[in-house]
This record gives sequence, C-alpha cells and structure tokens, in this order.
Amino acid sequence: MANGKIDLKQVFGENVFNDEVMRERLPKNVYKALRRTMDEGVPLDPSVADVVANAMKDWAIEKGATHYTHWFQPMTGITAEKHESFLNTISEGRAITEFSGKSLIKGEPDASSFPSGGIRATFEARGYTVWDATSYAFLKEDEGGLTLCIPTAFCAYTGEALDKKTPLLRSMEAVSKQALRILRLFGNTTAKRVFATVGAEQEYFLIDKDLYLKRKDLVFTGRTLFGAKPPKGQELEDHYFGSLKDRVANFMKDLDYELWKMGIPVKTKHNEVAPAQHEIAPIFENANIATDHNQVIMDTLKRVANRHNLACLLHEKPFAGVNGSGKHNNWSLSTNEGQNLFEPGKTPHENAQFLIFLSAVIKAVDEYAELLRASAANTGNDHRLGANEAPPAIISMFLGEQLTEILENIEKGNGTEKREREYLRIGVNTLPPLPKDATDRNRTSPFAFTGNKFEFRMVPSSASIANPNVVLNTAVAEVLSEIADRLEGAKDFDSEVNAIVKEIVKNHKRIIFNGDGYSEDWIIEAERRGLKNIKNTVDAITAWISEKSINLFTKHGVFTEVELRARYEIKLEEYIKHINIEARTMIDMVKKQIIPVVLGEVTNIANSINVVKMAMPDLDLTTQAELLKELQLNLNLLKKETLELEAVLEEAHSFNGDIFEKACIFRDRVAEKMKNVRVYGDKLETLIDENKWPFPSYEKLLFYV
Ligand code: ADP
Ligand code: MG
Repeated sequence: MANGKIDLKQVFGENVFNDEVMRERLPKNVYKALRRTMDEGVPLDPSVADVVANAMKDWAIEKGATHYTHWFQPMTGITAEKHESFLNTISEGRAITEFSGKSLIKGEPDASSFPSGGIRATFEARGYTVWDATSYAFLKEDEGGLTLCIPTAFCAYTGEALDKKTPLLRSMEAVSKQALRILRLFGNTTAKRVFATVGAEQEYFLIDKDLYLKRKDLVFTGRTLFGAKPPKGQELEDHYFGSLKDRVANFMKDLDYELWKMGIPVKTKHNEVAPAQHEIAPIFENANIATDHNQVIMDTLKRVANRHNLACLLHEKPFAGVNGSGKHNNWSLSTNEGQNLFEPGKTPHENAQFLIFLSAVIKAVDEYAELLRASAANTGNDHRLGANEAPPAIISMFLGEQLTEILENIEKGNGTEKREREYLRIGVNTLPPLPKDATDRNRTSPFAFTGNKFEFRMVPSSASIANPNVVLNTAVAEVLSEIADRLEGAKDFDSEVNAIVKEIVKNHKRIIFNGDGYSEDWIIEAERRGLKNIKNTVDAITAWISEKSINLFTKHGVFTEVELRARYEIKLEEYIKHINIEARTMIDMVKKQIIPVVLGEVTNIANSINVVKMAMPDLDLTTQAELLKELQLNLNLLKKETLELEAVLEEAHSFNGDIFEKACIFRDRVAEKMKNVRVYGDKLETLIDENKWPFPSYEKLLFYV
C-alpha cells in the first residue's frame, strides 16, 4: 500500500522483468538472443529459454514470489491465470525450485471450460499457452502474495486462436507489413517495423462496497436493473473534472502506485461527467502491450477498490439516467524509429505520405464500418450507444474543418481559386505544409482524428480493447496493400499519389462528418448517405461472418474462417447468457425483495386506515386511500409483467433453432419485457418510505462515496 510519499522513478516498473533487469541478469549472448526474439520475432533457442526462465525465477523469488502463471486472455474478454508454485522437488525435506525454459515457453492449462465456439469440440484438441516474449513478465501482488505473470497467447493444438491476443498480434504484423511497403515507396529505407500504438482511456464508477453488496443486480449483472431517478443527476455538471473527494483520491493514489509498480504508465485521472464516475488513462504503447495493460488496469481497479471498501463498476451502463462508461481507444501507427505516420509533416514530401495514410484510414473506416461497429458491440453498450451521451451507433469520422477542406480541394482537382491552388497538388514537390488542426475537440464523433492519432470512442468500458484494434489494424492493412499495389506499379508516382487520394475522398467522403453526432438531424443525414445505424449487439455481430469480413481477415492471416465463425457463436452465446442472467436477477429481486416489502407497506396503510377510522370516523382519509390504491395498482402490474417475463424467458430457453434467432428472441422478447418490469418497480420505489425499500437507492449509490 502506498503510504506517504511515492518515489515515482524508483517505483515505476519495480515489479517488471523489463529490459533493465534482463540486461543486468542475463549473459550478454542470451540477452541479445532474447532481444532479437522480442524485436524481430525470431524463435527462441531452447537452451536460451532455459537461462531466461531461470533468471526470471530467481528474480521473482528474490522479490518474494512463490508462484508463476501463464497469463492469457480467453474469449471471455477477461484474463485467466492458473497458478503453479516454483516448487519442483523436495530434497531431504528442503524445497528445490525450478522453472525451465520449456515451462516458460509453453503451458498446458486444462482450460477446457473456456469458450471455443466449437473449435475444440470439432477438433478434439486441448488448448495450450505460448509465451509472448514481446510483453514483459510482471509480478502481480494481491492478498495471496506475489505471482509471476507471463503474458501468453492461447491456442488450440490445431493452431486455431482461442484468445484475444493471437489475432491482435497477427493484425499488428499485417499492418506493419503493408505500412512498410508504403514507407519504402516514399523513400524510407531504414524503418524495420511499424507499430500500431494505442492509448485507452478507461472510464469507471466507484461506489461504496457495503451498498454494492446490497444490490443483487450489481453483484450479478454489473448494472442496476431497478432504480428511480434521484432528485439530482448530472445536470449541474459539477462532477466533471471536479476536485476529488479524499476517499476517491486515496483510492486513486493507491491504484496509480499498484499500476506503476507493474510498469503501466498511467498518467491522468479525473472525475467524469456522471456522479461517482471517473477516468484513468495511460500513456500510449504498442497495441499488444496497451491491450495487456488495459486488462491489468481493469483487474487492478477492482482489486484496489475492494481494499478501500469500494466497488468499481466497469459496466457500460450501471445507472439509467446518467452517463455510462466507455473506453476511448486512441490509435495511431508509428515506425520503430518513432515516426508517427499520422503526424502531418513539415515538408510537402512528408505531407503526401501523411495524406496517403490518412486516406487509407478514411477508406478503411467507411469500407469496414460494420466490422468496427461489431468490434464495439456488447450487451452493456446497447444501453449506451446512441443515448445522447456516447457516440451514436452510426460509424462516422471527424476530421476537423481544415483537413476536410484540404481533402475537398484535392477532390475537386485543379481549381482556379487561389485558396484551392494552395492545396491542390499533393505531388511530392508541391504541397505546402499542412496547418495543424486545432479543432479536434468534437466529442460526439465515434471516430475522431485528433491531430496525430484517431480516437475510437465507441469501445465498451468493460471489454478488452483487442477486437477494435484487430479490426482497425487489419482494415487499414488491407487499404494500404491496395494502395501499395497501385503505387508500386505506377509510372508517375506523384500523379498516382494524387489520383489515389482524390479517388478515396470522392468515394468515401460520406463517412466524414464534423457536426454534432448526438443530433437527430445526423441520424437522418446518415441514412441519406447510406451509413448504417446498427443499434444492437445481435445485429452488429453478424458482420464478423460476412463475406467481406472472411475475405479481409483470411487474406491478411488474422483469422481463419473457422475462427471467425467460432467468435461469432461465442458472442451470440455470451449475449444470451447476459440477458438470461439479467432477467433471472430481475425476477428474483421482484419476488423476494420488492413484492414482500410492498405487501408489508400495503398492509400497514390498510391497518392505519382502519385504526384512524375507528378513532375518528369523520376524518378525510383520501391521502391514505389513494396511496393504498396506487401501491396496489402498481404492485399488480409489476406482478403481471414479471409473470410475463418468466413466461417469455421460458419460451426463449425452449427455442431449439438457430442460435442467431435465439439471440433475437432474447433481445426482442426478454430484454424488452424487462423494460416494462422496471417501470413498475421504479414507480413503486417512489411511493415507499425510503428506509423500507429493499435495496439502496440511486441517491445513495451515486452520492454516498
Ligand atoms: P482526451 O482529450 O481524449 O481526454 P487524453 O490526453 O486524456 O485525451 O488521452 C489521450 C490518449 O491518447 C492518451 O492515452 C495518450 O497516451 C494517447 N495517445 C497520444 N498519442 C498517441 C498515439 N500516437 N497513438 C496512440 N495513442 C496516443
Ligand atoms: Mg478521449
């Protein structure tokens, strides 16, 4: 725990087997071999692996670790770990510790319970984990002690990916390969790799844990299924960037400390728009590390909250009526030499290259909008996207006025106006320096260019950021490959560059929208432009198995068709399970908590009417009588809707057809019915003595931290 002062320099990375530690502890040749594996993906020699494993073990044990785990990210979207102690044999009663290169490189968890979408059933293969040497091993510290976590990929024996990391690594490879082709064409001969870089801003809610534990809905589903609006919500906007309460500040300090120790470069923290809502953001890293780190951040948020008797809610919409949470996935491409490919350059030459990369993203986002939408789909996000607090469910792209104008001028070709002439030819020698756009503060766009990176704002707060980045990397890789094909065969490079940008702007400008994404007008305008408005998860995830998706991902070696179909099924199953748990929790709360309390209250009022009548027969008892009637009326309706919910749930379960249709039933019948149940539950809450309501109110949850 962080008491008193923190020496940031000393603390940062303290629990990471990082470059510095490796350099210090490994023989030079081993260090070099490992570095080559990390930087260039060269397979590691088994004898080298033994030395690395041993050094890792010694380091971990010196730090106080007793166990190691192959830390991986199955398709549940959270991380998995099975702890093994370093204890190997016992010699004359003394412990001998061992950690071999073999154990470092490959693990075989009996992980048969993780979702595989039929992959393992089909091939009767078990899963195994493979060390991802590019992501540093780290020590995770919890009440159970210190554990050496080795980031790994998780695959079936037949090679199919069973996790989130493998396709992400493949997609990073794909985009690197294609981006390098473009860079070579622009004369860059030195860059060896292009990295997708990612900085994910994470939103979350923090509430009192005692209150949290009194709410079955929060415990079981992560969101409130009931809750009448409190007198005050977020309308005063006094929480956003407001000063931190001591309890929260304390939590955040502890959180930063824990994350820094694990080498996670968290930088900013602040209060968000909704009461009890906050945000934490790290400095960007390569997409693979950023994804690992975001998982650790989510895990640590929960753990540290618990320590402070707080509960951290990562759900996309824990409370109706106030903003939900998302993740802003900031994404860019950068060479291993540190050149950001979306940084408008200073010379015409650099700018031509910039415009080619920018155009590639414009086309990729328009062409693969449905996949991007699918990558941001989960049950929680269905309550958030399009609810005037998050971007709409329509994918569009914000570029800012200046950049849009430049592109429009390029599209128009050689005009006569002076203004146009300034921007006209993007040929290597003629393009003037691009002005840096200062208008990047559009908050309503799902996909915004923010100066030298893109901010994908649809991403769900509770989900892994792997999928959105897999789609981005692969879609951009595809467009870059098309562009590279053309440019490599071009007779006149400059005019081909010009022609490509022009063509992309012409064909894909419908995706560019700089206005208010929350407005009604935009929904109409988007429809006119032919942009899809995909409102829910079930509809969104069909994109995974479209022909376009299969072609894209198989071409770039990111997913096989089998893997895509598996993921699609898992997503549908997950959706069904979530709605099912929510419905069952709701029914449980109504029957065991709300109805008994309301019945008691009805009886109380009836008794009181009788007693008062006896004491003073002439008194006007309208107030009591009306309250009694209103309670009974809403109670009856609540009961009726709940019975109907039970019936549709049963019906949904007994449906034996196609899983997609089954998911549709859960969406259209079960989830819809739940809305009705909630109406009467919330109404009753407003009619009852707050001290008698069976679970803590929104007021307490949101304002009592
Ligand atoms: P906002 O104005 O959206 O709140 P922040 O400064 O909080 O912006 O977050 C921006 C995020 O974008 C940070 O995580 C930052 O590290 C990240 N970022 C900055 N540059 C890049 C880049 N080139 N690639 C990826 N992410 C980046
Ligand atoms: Mg942001």
